[in-house]
Amino acid sequence: MKIKDITNSTDGSIYLDLDDVLCDTAVAYLDLIDREFGLQIEFEQIFSFDLQKSFGLSDEANQHMFRCAHQPDFIININVFSGVSETLERWKALGHRLHIVTGRHTSSYQATIDWLEQNDIDYDSFTMVDKYGWEDTDHDLAVPLAAIRSRDYFLAIEDNMEMTKFLTSSMDLPVMLYDRPWNRTLSPDPRVERFQDWNELNSDYPGGG
Ligand SMILES: [Mg+2]
Repeated sequence: MKIKDITNSTDGSIYLDLDDVLCDTAVAYLDLIDREFGLQIEFEQIFSFDLQKSFGLSDEANQHMFRCAHQPDFIININVFSGVSETLERWKALGHRLHIVTGRHTSSYQATIDWLEQNDIDYDSFTMVDKYGWEDTDHDLAVPLAAIRSRDYFLAIEDNMEMTKFLTSSMDLPVMLYDRPWNRTLSPDPRVERFQDWNELNSDYPGGG
């Protein structure tokens, strides 16, 4: 899968992760830990998807961060990445169907739906998936990971290494991986192509316009 293949094809289903794919969640967390703990950490220092590890937090501080990060006012203020809505609009015009598949905690369901509307994200379906085995997941709202295995996507867009491995290995899906500090240790895989930002996806060729 190359970027140009997205625009050269039509009528396909695309899996879209949400956090750190459509929206700049990690940067919102950096602001949060600065405000709550006076901790200043640079984006490039987020070496692990496990933010407790990346930020060096105690269990108690981690629980506090997690609670703050699932408040509606935190979620609604996460910035959408530049170029997302234009790119999705373009793909919709090509006939693609856009399926948001998020591992976000179920307690943030309504705030997330509100965020998508507020940011003009056009999508065909929204699924909460128990990707990471969070405690306190509402299983009426989130489906198990195995439930998406039989879905017929032609492409996935992710930032998480473990999910990327699942998508390539268990679903044989090509993945566009948003290049982030926490996914740089992923072994090279011909089914995985990195991209740097949404303006790159909103072009026919990498670096093109
Ligand atoms: Mg993500």
